[in-house]
Amino acid sequence: MTRNKDQTTGRRTLVRGGVMPESASRPVVPPLQPSVVYAASSADALDAQYEGRLAGYSYAREGHPNADMLAEKIDWLEGGEDGLVTGSGMAAISAMFLGLLSRGDHVLAGDQLYGRSLRMLTQDLPRLGIETSFADAGDAAAMAVAIRPNTRLILVEAVSNPTLRVADMTAIAGLAAGADALLAVDNTFTTPAMFRPFEHGADIVINSITKFLAGHSDVTLGYVTARDADHRQAMRDAAVTWGLTPSPFDCWLADRGLHSFDLRFAAAERSAATIADHLSGHIPGGRGIRRVLYPGRADHPDHARARTLFGGRHGNMVTFEIEGGREAVNAFIGAAAGIPFAPTLGDIGSTLSHPASSSHRGLSADDRAALGIGEGMFRLSVGIEPVEMLIDELDAALAAVKGD
Ligand SMILES: *Cc1c(COP(=O)(O)O)cnc(C)c1O
Repeated sequence: MTRNKDQTTGRRTLVRGGVMPESASRPVVPPLQPSVVYAASSADALDAQYEGRLAGYSYAREGHPNADMLAEKIDWLEGGEDGLVTGSGMAAISAMFLGLLSRGDHVLAGDQLYGRSLRMLTQDLPRLGIETSFADAGDAAAMAVAIRPNTRLILVEAVSNPTLRVADMTAIAGLAAGADALLAVDNTFTTPAMFRPFEHGADIVINSITKFLAGHSDVTLGYVTARDADHRQAMRDAAVTWGLTPSPFDCWLADRGLHSFDLRFAAAERSAATIADHLSGHIPGGRGIRRVLYPGRADHPDHARARTLFGGRHGNMVTFEIEGGREAVNAFIGAAAGIPFAPTLGDIGSTLSHPASSSHRGLSADDRAALGIGEGMFRLSVGIEPVEMLIDELDAALAAVKGD
């Protein structure tokens, strides 16, 4: 029974040394490999690994099989190569900034980014001597005047949160190229099922795997890759040095989530379109809905741009505004008990968020109003439940607000 003996000395021990039983057949599920360290056969072999002549791992912060397997699948989805999986979406954004920017550089960003990205840009990068400013990514002229001689990177999301405005990607890609700046696109909201930024001039693509790609709200992971190999290496080095490493178990779970990504996204998108139409139908009826924002509807201000950019896909996010103030908001949340009021998106289950008290709570009411975010605004991330159930839930919540 070699299994109970140390492989090299032949002595029995419970410490290390165990070997997996051999099997002529292979597992269909990829193994989870939590090992932090890997034993090399010699110093020469380790040299060969570090010099890229031999494939192999040495220490998990520098890379591990579950991360690489996941990265390869997302590369394929995003049309990128040699992507980096990180411990969160924010870690992916951090790897990009830390790897590619230096003191004195300027970053121009869309003004309706994910809340933590905005915070990183307003509070953290300036401490490192990196200048940042913001402009409406839907307004090419506003973006153009915000470019500076030291603009090194432009960061946008193709669809804004929570008003679902669509960025003028064609114009922005032209601006970035003209200014010799890198264009980075956070593709979390849109997902590669709907938008592939590299095909629209992006130099860098980011995704919070935590959301749609993993899809089950049980892992926190991010992804980033760049068109240019030197940029990829710089981001990878930053991630290894700053410790932005993903957990093998999270990568393993996210890989499992990816199996159903296309199906989940398509189902959620279909339901989102149905819900947007249903809620819009309540506007003239005095049923407590003030407006509905869904890029797939002809009444969305960026409908035409969405059609061109997303090839007929419009995503799973529906934003709507109910009548009444905070009291109505609380009543709505209380009555829509089957839809968790939770600050996330892209889960298999629908989730409801209230930007004024969550993602955009850091802004003054005036600043929120300038972005079109009212107190009664909700953002619904539609999941894969039966759409009739979601509609019943939303109608019951509206009825509760109106005291019907
Ligand atoms: C959630 C999110 C992030 C951050 O991802 P984490 O995995 O939570 O760190 C970044 N950008 C967008 C658009 C997001 O929705």
